[in-house]
Amino acid sequence: MPGDSFDCYHSAFHQIGAAWAAIDAAPHVTHTENAWPHARRGQLESIMDVIVIGGGIVGVATAYQLRAAGHRVCVVERHATVAQGATYGHGGTLLPTPLDVWFGPTFMQHRQAAKSGVIRKTGFNGPVREFIRKLATLAEPDAFKKQFALLRPLVESARESLADIEHHFNLEFEQSKGQLYLVRSARDWELTEPALELLRQFEAPHHVLSPQECQDIEHSIPLEPHFAGGVLIEDEGTANCPLFAKLLKQTLDAQGGVQFQCGREVTGIRLDNQRAAVELAPANGESARSSREVDVISADAVVVAAGVGSLALLEKLRLNLPLHPLRLHNLVAPIAREEFAPHTTVIDAVKRITITRSNHRLRIAGGAVLQSASQTKQPLPEPLTKEALALLGQATHDWVPGSARISAALPWEGAKLLSPDGLPVTGNALHPRLFVNAGHGPVGWGLAFGTGKLIANLVSGAPSELSPDTIAALRPERFRE
Ligand SMILES: Cc1cc2nc3c(=O)[nH]c(=O)nc-3n(C[C@H](O)[C@H](O)[C@H](O)COP(=O)(O)OP(=O)(O)OC[C@H]3O[C@@H](n4cnc5c(N)ncnc54)[C@H](O)[C@@H]3O)c2cc1C
Repeated sequence: MPGDSFDCYHSAFHQIGAAWAAIDAAPHVTHTENAWPHARRGQLESIMDVIVIGGGIVGVATAYQLRAAGHRVCVVERHATVAQGATYGHGGTLLPTPLDVWFGPTFMQHRQAAKSGVIRKTGFNGPVREFIRKLATLAEPDAFKKQFALLRPLVESARESLADIEHHFNLEFEQSKGQLYLVRSARDWELTEPALELLRQFEAPHHVLSPQECQDIEHSIPLEPHFAGGVLIEDEGTANCPLFAKLLKQTLDAQGGVQFQCGREVTGIRLDNQRAAVELAPANGESARSSREVDVISADAVVVAAGVGSLALLEKLRLNLPLHPLRLHNLVAPIAREEFAPHTTVIDAVKRITITRSNHRLRIAGGAVLQSASQTKQPLPEPLTKEALALLGQATHDWVPGSARISAALPWEGAKLLSPDGLPVTGNALHPRLFVNAGHGPVGWGLAFGTGKLIANLVSGAPSELSPDTIAALRPERFRE
């Protein structure tokens, strides 16, 4: 794909052309390699202009990786700033482990929400039932292990990028280390065994603990009622994802080469042999124009990284992905009594509920509600909201009782896309100039830097460190085969 023709805006639309003009004018555009921790000098045949749709963590991470590879990037985000979608409500865990990916032997094995952590309101909706059926095939231990093995190189690639960023730009985003996974019943403990096998196989440092040992590490965990045990992963971290996304945006703003067009919604994508382009809805405050007058930004390539919004944009291009939106909840509660507050991140490994301490607050995330896609677009009926938040309150009461004032907690809900095979959808699709980076599910933060790097490699035509098996398993068009 040529990156040399920088006639990158529709001549009628100077306002938007200014996006690239500003990037051109930035002082660091072509000579910032030293500013980038893993810039790949000399690999680029040409510098591309790339539009990234979506300013969630996936869009920001993709923009970062594209810029690090030397490209010029324009991120288009419909909200006034970045990290306002699913990224806003994250639970705090950085990189996924075999114990908390949203597929496998322990995921949704119980029908009751009180045991599985997932409220199912699927009715007779065919697509969502088919989605659950496919996800359930990964409950079989060998299928789970095979799928996680495909995901793992992505996790390791993301780990490397995150460490580079943290070190190089010296960002402070409430980082802390240590995750303690807890399992209630003996049956669930048995189901955890394939995940433990994977930790051993990958030589990931971890400690399998008795209830007493869990309490020795985290004094706030009660020994009654009895629970089966826990797994401590000391090296895995938690932090504040929306804060990180905003800091990274500031870093990109300061370094140059990435332009953020916030408050602009993409309504369509145009693809032809010469260029790719996005059509924009009128900016806030602008009156609607005739259908012949739309703002357009054109570029060498477009990456769709718009979270749940990706589906509608891709459907217009006749790419129907079988990703399903899942609603999740979050409570941020003030610490009630310091002596009962946890110091380690505590995760209910079966219900996938994360309890993270951040200064004087506890962040409790999970409480999934699975409905049809059309119902997920509607506001959640109040009784279901209460039921989901009650799952979070109960988990706090079960694992760290008395630690937080749940009655004073601020609730939040958001939706993210889950894929039926548990893997994100990352790669080229339909046209050489179109790329997709979506479907990261509930583990989007860490993975975003691995998938963003893959997108940057694909756009650059550069080899990826990921295995061909992993790259094939992530392809957007895999569901058609
Ligand atoms: C309650 C909760 C807890 C979670 N906990 C964790 C956790 O602990 N660890 C973890 O790794 N992950 C967690 N996740 C998942 C993680 O937050 C997501 O995987 C990740 O944020 C997805 O990022 P994204 O950029 O794809 O989506 P989003 O953050 O939703 O961003 C998509 C962006 O695209 C924009 N957009 C959409 N359509 C358009 C359009 N047409 N034009 C312009 N802009 C558009 C949206 O406004 C939005 O800002 C959690 C999610 C939730 C909801």
